[in-house]
Parts: sequence; C-alpha cells; structure tokens
Amino acid sequence: MAKKKITCQSFLDDLSDYIDGDVAQEIRVTFEAHLAKCPNCWVVFDETQRTVEIFQGYDCHPLPENVKGRLLQTLSVKLKNA
Ligand SMILES: [Zn+2]
Repeated sequence: MAKKKITCQSFLDDLSDYIDGDVAQEIRVTFEAHLAKCPNCWVVFDETQRTVEIFQGYDCHPLPENVKGRLLQTLSVKLKNA
C-alpha cells in the first residue's frame, strides 16, 4: 500500500475529524505518520485533543463544530507565528 504524504495544512484541515475518529483507517495511518515526523502538528493535535476531552468531560456532549473550528484556527495562527 503506497503511503500518501500529507501537508501540515491538510492535516490541520482534517484534524477535528481525526480526533472524532471520523476518518478512514488509511487516513488515520497517514495522520499518525505525519504526527510522528512533525512536532508542530503534534503540538496542535495534543492541545486540540486535550481541549476536546475537557469540553466533553464537562458537558457530556461533543464539542460544537464552531468551537472546534475556532480552536483550530487559533492554534494554526499560533503555529504560523511560532
Ligand atoms: Zn505538520
């Protein structure tokens, strides 16, 4: 199976789906390979996942899409300015 390379941008675009477990196995593998090589995306992934878990823990509801979108936007801006 050929491994498809992804960019940081496509990683960030699909990160919330990945965290939700809402991606195909093949994509999951690609994401994990990217995470292993890219410390910047790892930080974003880690912070996002933790925030999602905190929200879910408080509310017992999935994080609303707009909250997740804003979080990802904030993190990707942070990433660009780092
Ligand atoms: Zn990356």
